[in-house]
Amino acid sequence: MAEHKIMIGIETHVQLNTKSKMFCSDRSEPGDAEPNSNTCPVCLGFPGSKPRINRKAVEYGILIGIALNCRINSNVFFSRKAYFYPDLSKNFQITQYEIPIAEEGYVQMGDDRIGITRVHVEEDPARLIYQNGDITSAESVLIDYNRAGVPLAEIVTEPDFKSPKQVRNFLERLSSVLEYLGVYDPAREMSLRVDANISMDGGERVEIKNITGFESVEKALNYEIVRQSGMRRMAATVQRETRHFNAELKTTSALRKKEYEEDYGYIFDPDLPMVTLSEAHVSSIKAKMPELPEQRAERLSKEYGMDISRACVIVYNGKPMADFFETSVKLYNNPDGISNWIVNYLMKSLNWRGERISNSKVRPNTFVELVEMVDKNEITERYAKELVKSYVDTGTSPRKLAEGEKVVLTEKDIVKIVSDIIVNNKKASDELKAGKKEAMQFLIGEALKQTKRQANPNEIREILTKLIGKST
Ligand code: MN
Repeated sequence: MAEHKIMIGIETHVQLNTKSKMFCSDRSEPGDAEPNSNTCPVCLGFPGSKPRINRKAVEYGILIGIALNCRINSNVFFSRKAYFYPDLSKNFQITQYEIPIAEEGYVQMGDDRIGITRVHVEEDPARLIYQNGDITSAESVLIDYNRAGVPLAEIVTEPDFKSPKQVRNFLERLSSVLEYLGVYDPAREMSLRVDANISMDGGERVEIKNITGFESVEKALNYEIVRQSGMRRMAATVQRETRHFNAELKTTSALRKKEYEEDYGYIFDPDLPMVTLSEAHVSSIKAKMPELPEQRAERLSKEYGMDISRACVIVYNGKPMADFFETSVKLYNNPDGISNWIVNYLMKSLNWRGERISNSKVRPNTFVELVEMVDKNEITERYAKELVKSYVDTGTSPRKLAEGEKVVLTEKDIVKIVSDIIVNNKKASDELKAGKKEAMQFLIGEALKQTKRQANPNEIREILTKLIGKST
């Protein structure tokens, strides 16, 4: 395929985990409340109802802005973004347009710098539940206003991404930063949603709306690259439009011609006051800034003598994984072994099961048993790799699992196995007595097989020599 100039930028909507909604006091996380029960005149948009600003959500917006190296604006206000859609009972969404909380930041990704255009807060629309199909095919739609008014932070990047893969890495990093800030709960369903804009070779920009899951974002963009380059080959023009990603088919399909920002007719919301973010206020929030993933990766690398790339793999897996690592090291002081087993085996098993460490059965006190058994040569690495899988499946102590399978062999066990082999392989043992080297190799091989490589060849050789010596 010929080289294409690809431009990708993304907008990420993140549900903030404040107690109440953006402009009213309904709970922002209603749990399994009945649909449409966690609502009030404000979030249902009844005439005459008056919104009030959730200060905590604004503070979270500031925290995010600082963490993404943005400038924080001193006077911000809210505007109405007007459009008609069933998920929006007021026919407008209260958001920030003219002056967002934060602007002009960046995220450093190796040698590449991804510009952050802006960070603002707004309200989530209601949730639409499509019946017998998706947005392009459903027969009917149900609406749940429990979600209407949940605080969102919208984070907009510059079109700086060079590939879909880089977008995915960025999202993993962003999610991790937000988790460290304590402003969002990655376990909450649909808590992070992405709109991706992509244009190729100077053509029109296509927006893929509302993608959840980092892998889906990457797939949707890859599909668009194939689709758009195919169109170019056939000399067709890519239209400016909004598309939908079908996660099952892994394809995108047209939703509507993309509207321009001006089409929304933003107006200043007269119900809400201007918010002044004084320098003192911003620095008091800055002072509360927790250790961020980038800093933690650097600290782990220094403190535990770990390769920085390995530290990054642990840290950007999410806060619970980095906590898991540090707790494990406190219980069993072999940071190198522990990080190796986490990065190369534990994470793979968790991924395969689609689990995060926080909702898995894995615990530091049992996990370190595995590393310790390998260190003490009680089990082989090869066996430990198998053991990780059943450990992640069951959460049972690896020591108990290994003992249950009788793979922790004592010296006595090994001597028994080897003497049985001598009896059962009369020809080979006779040849060994006669001094044939090949016979020794053969018997060692048999013993390795039967001990599932628990014993090492030298140990077996010693036992064989002893036993053969005795019997002659
Ligand atoms: Mn938005």
